[in-house]
Amino acid sequence: MDKTLYRLVYLSRNTITGDDDLLQEEIRGILDVSQRNNRQAGVTGALMFNTGCFAQVLEGPHNRIQDTFERIQCDPRHSHVSVLAFDRVEARYFSDWDMAFVGQNAQRIEQFAGFNERSSFDAKALDGDTVFELLRTHLDEAEQA
Ligand code: FAD
Repeated sequence: MDKTLYRLVYLSRNTITGDDDLLQEEIRGILDVSQRNNRQAGVTGALMFNTGCFAQVLEGPHNRIQDTFERIQCDPRHSHVSVLAFDRVEARYFSDWDMAFVGQNAQRIEQFAGFNERSSFDAKALDGDTVFELLRTHLDEAEQA
């Protein structure tokens, strides 16, 4: 099996509507399915969200990331899926997580991307490295808390 590793970073717009309880329930469902599927596929990564957007990092073999991402792109719970990076990497960063949940910390990403309820989504304002660093930093902080 080809052991070459890739990392995909994307942003998308959250389309889940409803109160906080419903949002939490949907996110729980996404994480449960992600952890189950990703473990089987050898994909690792991290997910961050808020009412405005999702940011996700997927790591693993090229074909496994592609299969996973094709399903993710079709999911009606988000839209405007925008790939920021899909690069070869030497090692996984999120190797201990089938899908780490970084939580509701996406405000910083929204600020960087320059969008909110009133403005348009501009993923071009961000690059994959910036989003990867944000998820990495937030996860490290959460682990130390
Ligand atoms: P099942 O879980 O059995 O679902 C069957 C079908 O129903 C799928 O088409 C699914 O999209 C749809 N579905 C299920 N629940 C809902 C719902 N509440 N609303 C609308 N449609 C629904 N999947 C991964 O495997 N790995 C990931 O890392 C991953 N990350 C995700 C990140 C985000 C931001 C989102 C929105 C989804 C993510 N998903 C991820 C879920 C992915 O989009 C698919 O739903 C999932 O992979 C399908 O898994 P399954 O084939 O086992 O089908």
